[in-house]
Amino acid sequence: MSIETQNDLSLPISKAKDEWLKSKIRDIPDFPKPGIIFKDLTTLFADAEAFAYVLDVLSERCKALRPDMIAGIEARGFILAPTIAYKLGLGFVPIRKPGKLPYTVQKLQYELEYGTDTIEIHADAVNHSHRVVLLDDLLATGGTAGAARRLLELLGAKVVGVGFIVELGFLNGRAKLSGDSDVFSILNY
Ligand code: AMP
Repeated sequence: MSIETQNDLSLPISKAKDEWLKSKIRDIPDFPKPGIIFKDLTTLFADAEAFAYVLDVLSERCKALRPDMIAGIEARGFILAPTIAYKLGLGFVPIRKPGKLPYTVQKLQYELEYGTDTIEIHADAVNHSHRVVLLDDLLATGGTAGAARRLLELLGAKVVGVGFIVELGFLNGRAKLSGDSDVFSILNY
């Protein structure tokens, strides 16, 4: 099987694997609002072989970055980050929507297309001694992951990587993640 990079932005997987994985994702037009094509990954997660494959690819890349912790963004990042943390023998750090975390939090408000949103992390979840990889299911505009990365950095952590299964490359979300982190995704649209 030939290994080739299908573009500059994604992890190198074969074209056949790229097509196979994409076939496991269900497109939902006009969800949650008109004009958005929602990439429904529940169909990929439900396929044992496809789920194992994405976890293996992501965990290999994470491992190479030598993190101390894996952080995930609520809610779909919670499917990936703890699983990969377990595979690598590391701890998991949740980044959550407002009002969910019980201890002292560090919060950050960020811009959406219309309005703002807020995410929170426990103030003692990471510190300057930690190298962290941040994971979410999908990179769209980069607002969410950019804010989550900033939150980790506010606590002093070094964010060595930010990873996704899917990147909507046409939205150029990775521009919001510029800096020292290695930004990686498996599938690009
Ligand atoms: P953004 O902040 O624009 O990068 O949006 C990223 C977050 O929104 C991720 O947590 C995704 O799960 C979700 N998201 C945004 N757009 C889509 C889409 N077209 N399909 C599925 N999830 C999306």
